[in-house]
Amino acid sequence: MADSDWSSSGSSGSDATSRAMDEDDVRALVVREREQAGNVGHYSVVEQHYDLLVSLGSLRFPDILESLLLYERWPEIARYLRHALRFHAKDAAEAVAYPPARATDMRRAHPELYLLPRRQHALHLFSAGQHDQALHFYHERILPRILAVRRNAHVNALVESLGAILAGQQPLAIRDYDREVASTSRAIRDYVQVYFPGFCNSFYQKMMIGHSMDKLGQAWSFGEVLMPGDILDPTTTIRCLVCHAQLPMGTFPDAKLLDHLYMGCPATTPHIHRLLPRPLNPRQVARRAQLLQQDEAAADAAAAAEEEEEEEEEEDDGDNAGPPAGDGGDE
Ligand SMILES: [Zn+2]
Repeated sequence: MADSDWSSSGSSGSDATSRAMDEDDVRALVVREREQAGNVGHYSVVEQHYDLLVSLGSLRFPDILESLLLYERWPEIARYLRHALRFHAKDAAEAVAYPPARATDMRRAHPELYLLPRRQHALHLFSAGQHDQALHFYHERILPRILAVRRNAHVNALVESLGAILAGQQPLAIRDYDREVASTSRAIRDYVQVYFPGFCNSFYQKMMIGHSMDKLGQAWSFGEVLMPGDILDPTTTIRCLVCHAQLPMGTFPDAKLLDHLYMGCPATTPHIHRLLPRPLNPRQVARRAQLLQQDEAAADAAAAAEEEEEEEEEEDDGDNAGPPAGDGGDE
């Protein structure tokens, strides 16, 4: 996939058609075609209607995201998620990771979700031997845009590790690339699950939620208890859905996860701070107060900066952006 494929994905000719579709149409389409395809390869059904489904941006059908991830269609994933913020406007307004960012401003509202498919696209270029294009994409399309927005330590680490790989400081064997694909895919699923609960839960996710509810109590929406025989490391038994890391379960998994979320999770955001369940101990109570205070101060500063900045946003973030030929206009 060339760098330019990123830009071409932003101008689908079927946008007008897709906007005429509603969720019932999508449901009918997915169900009908899935039935026709049978149990074998029903993702190919989604593939036939990528333009429509990606442009619509409905998160209600796990097949869409799963198919995009399966086929590693990173530019379409970025576009689909961006459209999802518009399609699910009400939910998106309540899910902004960094208020007061606009709900549809993916880069400011959800820097991690903005970064994940772009980071993987750069890795894809790099692993395909297109080193110059990968570096260009990183330096022009990722780094300046991410460094310009509020973000957490987890996002910083993702950017830094990408820079190190592209600079040749870290080798990227096929095995490592496959691991990156799995990790990015999981992170995107986790993000959608945490910030848009109820949407886009695949059969596997639903099964994990059911399995985890008992053990994680009020913290269930932020983690999953891994099952014996899970493909992930069986010696660690909780996964934080916010930073995607695995934690030892201990005797009280709910307390363990809550402590991690309050005291050490590198991927928390103001949105997560507001959603965190009731603290279990005085240390967590104090930390919660501190986090909320920090968020308020940072939100005030961001609002003031935003007023000065005015309409810088959208950059080439919109559908109508005309990217320079061959340069991979970002969206
Ligand atoms: Zn975490």
